[in-house]
Amino acid sequence: MPFKKLTQNFLLPELKVLKVVRARYSIFEIHVVKHSDFEVCPHCATKSKTVHDRRWVKIKDVPFRKQAIFLKVLKRRFRCPNCKKVFTEPVQGIQKRARITQRLERKLCWSCQTYTDLKKVQKTYNVGRKLIYKSFYRQLELKEREFRNTPWPKVIGIDEHGFSKDKRRGARNFATLIVDHKSKKVREIVEGKSHRKLYEGLDHIPGRENVKLVTIDLADSYKSFVKNFFPNAEIIADKFHVLRLITPTLNKKRIGITGDKRTHELRKMLLRKRENLHYADRIELDHWLNKYPELKEVYLAKEGLYTLYKCKGFNRAKQSLIKLIDKLQKSKIKELKRLGRTLLRWSKEILRYFSFKYTNARTEAFNNNAKLVQKRAYGYKSFKNYRLRVLSACR
Ligand SMILES: [Zn+2]
Repeated sequence: MPFKKLTQNFLLPELKVLKVVRARYSIFEIHVVKHSDFEVCPHCATKSKTVHDRRWVKIKDVPFRKQAIFLKVLKRRFRCPNCKKVFTEPVQGIQKRARITQRLERKLCWSCQTYTDLKKVQKTYNVGRKLIYKSFYRQLELKEREFRNTPWPKVIGIDEHGFSKDKRRGARNFATLIVDHKSKKVREIVEGKSHRKLYEGLDHIPGRENVKLVTIDLADSYKSFVKNFFPNAEIIADKFHVLRLITPTLNKKRIGITGDKRTHELRKMLLRKRENLHYADRIELDHWLNKYPELKEVYLAKEGLYTLYKCKGFNRAKQSLIKLIDKLQKSKIKELKRLGRTLLRWSKEILRYFSFKYTNARTEAFNNNAKLVQKRAYGYKSFKNYRLRVLSACR
């Protein structure tokens, strides 16, 4: 029987084929048995040769050319001569009490990470949802444990993204992502963004004093958390968030003039960096600005921010920032005054960028990855599973 010989080669090492049965059109059952002269008692490690009884165990294996394969193992149960207990023989490649082989479990785990969603894995391997979820997250957890005690890196970034909606309160729940800038990987992800939650989620990682630099957006809550949690850390305010501080004011003033039309040509001209504008556009823009002095003032403040980030070196940037803050604080527009105050409050963190050149862009890129993970699964109910999934996808 050639099929019998063929299957022998694909089988687990200890098993011998008795016969192959085609149970249904695409389901094969391979009846197998283990050969050994004795087995060792798991309770007292005595060799035992007396077979107490035998029983059939049905175990699912990796499918072969779209055929489902089951191993029907005739397992022997031995009686130990020393402690008189009865035990079942172990088989290499099949875990105790498992209903699938270890290689199928590995295959499932690989597929869960490769396929777009777990439903497809379920269909391809024709296994139950519960089994997939259980084995997949068990494998992920094992992997996560290897990383668990890696100490804090030197440069990190912190940012949050929406995780799920709380239906009762109608509010969004947040997840906070911590990225290692040097290794370009996600270090940890925590449910929520309050100090207490961050503390609980990050306390297990050793070596807080390692952290020297932290990039954050301009959020006071993260600022105070970093100051309390990392004794040696210095904060860098994210460049792109600083540049974006003025956009709402600029839009508000524009809408006051042109109405709320996103397609209006003025919108693009205002938001784009002046040096990137065409000559004709620049003239057109100046025409608008000269007509509306308030808009012009806000626009000049925006360009002031760009000028700041064009500076080379800490000292020049410092001069530029001082000049900008001065101008903003003298302004009669209340939004600009407020911007001046914000810049003053964050000036140390803003200027630190010019010494180290780190931004939070990577953290935000990983935020996007995390959101893709959510979408692929049509959302997560359990944050624990979501965390494992993000960590495995971004490490
Ligand atoms: Zn024993």
